[in-house]
Amino acid sequence: MAGYDYDLFVIGAGSGGVRAARLAAMSGARVAVAEEYRVGGTCVIRGCVPKKFMVYASEFTHAFEEARGFGWEIEGAKFDWRRFLMAKDAEISRLSGIYTSNLEKAGVDLLLGTARFVDDHTLELKEKSGGKRTITAAKVLIATGGRPTLPTDVPGIEHVITSEEAFHLPELPKRMVIVGGGYIAVEFACIFHGLGVDVTLIYRGPNILRGFDEDVRAHLADELKSRGLKVMVSCQHESIEKREDGVLVSHVGEGHTLESEVVMFATGRAPHVKGLGLEAAGVKLNDKGAVAVDAFSRTNVEHIWAVGDVTDRMALTPVAIREAQAFAETEFYGRPMSFDHADVPTAVFSQPPVGTVGLTEAQARHKLGPVDVYLTRFRPMKTTFYGGRDRFLMKLIVCRENGKVVGCHIVGPDSAEMIQLAAIAVKAGLTKAQWDATCALHPSAAEELVTLR
Ligand code: FAD
Ligand code: NDP
Repeated sequence: MAGYDYDLFVIGAGSGGVRAARLAAMSGARVAVAEEYRVGGTCVIRGCVPKKFMVYASEFTHAFEEARGFGWEIEGAKFDWRRFLMAKDAEISRLSGIYTSNLEKAGVDLLLGTARFVDDHTLELKEKSGGKRTITAAKVLIATGGRPTLPTDVPGIEHVITSEEAFHLPELPKRMVIVGGGYIAVEFACIFHGLGVDVTLIYRGPNILRGFDEDVRAHLADELKSRGLKVMVSCQHESIEKREDGVLVSHVGEGHTLESEVVMFATGRAPHVKGLGLEAAGVKLNDKGAVAVDAFSRTNVEHIWAVGDVTDRMALTPVAIREAQAFAETEFYGRPMSFDHADVPTAVFSQPPVGTVGLTEAQARHKLGPVDVYLTRFRPMKTTFYGGRDRFLMKLIVCRENGKVVGCHIVGPDSAEMIQLAAIAVKAGLTKAQWDATCALHPSAAEELVTLR
């Protein structure tokens, strides 16, 4: 690989890019990574991590309610959004710093600026400091992630924000309209509702979280309503108007209007390929506008790979990391491996959260034929103690032919934590009989998973 400036050039220091760059450099390769914004990428800077801090902050409202039921007196509890933002930003900077120093320790050259292909082995770096450099590399990894997308046919769309700005609102609005029915819309609707904002969630379809198990969707919708979140389904924006007093008026059909200080659209994300010069390198996109790759994350150009959200396979941080790891193992350690995208656990950090792994009931029936379904809805003992209304849902889907648990779906407190462990059993292909042979842990909510009849 002599003759090139680097053995590997990585575009994007997010979840996938950082993992690949570090592993490749630790094998002795000469590696550079370009980052145009902040090291850590979406997950650390404006995704999973700050989102989870906001979830933690927001959950206290419900916890205070529960605490009263347990005999606590909580008077005058107040939330200081600005103080929270300062603490959140400090922690994000600390984490970004750790990512940067890990790259340095591994011997990776961190290049701050925007990279684009000049040809399939040559990149131009527009440095943050203002200069321009040309760099050559034997291998290139595209790990540029995704960007929020907005509809183009809604007049007044320029007045809305996306999740990117939601992390930096100068103050909490009194009222907020959130549009979408996917992960981000549902999570942020719960976050701001918990923080005391009057939120209306608007979704164009009949029920939120399309693609999730139907019982999960119905159960979560009921739980959100019982916690007082306003959800409007089968409803779409016709236009948005900004009044002179700054209030936004959402026109949502049939003469209905909603007034709010903030309108946030969470209507999906698209692979970030704009300005990358992929044509100059000869790299092809698929019909979804993502970089087309094979099971080893290789593009149509033999020495160029892509991992993470830019490939639009499964937009989750651990998936980007595993794809990157498989790439580095294959190319720099001589251990060919590809990442298996089946049975990836995932959680929606709504309030209550959803944890899910494996097939939905509909997918299982379609793929496997006859299945047995085990479902329970119950009030956890913490809730019954104080007379609360929260209800758990747990559902197992079992292949009738071989008895294997092929799907596990939970809605309720700590379901994200539970599903990570349940995913081991699903991934390992354990049968319902083996789940049942595991002794329950009492008293817990999770014990229901091994006692379902
Ligand atoms: P990214 O992390 O987006 O990194 C791409 C990097 O490339 C960025 O830093 C970008 O600045 C840089 N870049 C782009 N173009 C160039 C260029 N030309 N030159 C130089 N640098 C460039 N996933 C979960 O698993 N759990 C969650 O709870 C979760 N919550 C989320 C919440 C939100 C609000 C969002 C938006 C996403 C969330 N995700 C979550 C998804 C997760 O963040 C992504 O799947 C993950 O970050 C993808 O990693 P990546 O490496 O593909 O891209
Ligand atoms: P999603 O694709 O999950 O959801 C987009 C939502 O917007 C859907 O409900 C979609 O409706 C709706 N929508 C799309 N276009 C329009 C439109 N023109 N008008 C009205 N509604 C529209 O995207 P997100 O932005 O929520 O999240 C992106 C990805 O990031 C997720 O898929 C996930 O992989 C990842 N993520 C993961 C998280 C986690 O792990 N906890 C948290 C946040 C993000 P319809 O259903 O009808 O298509």
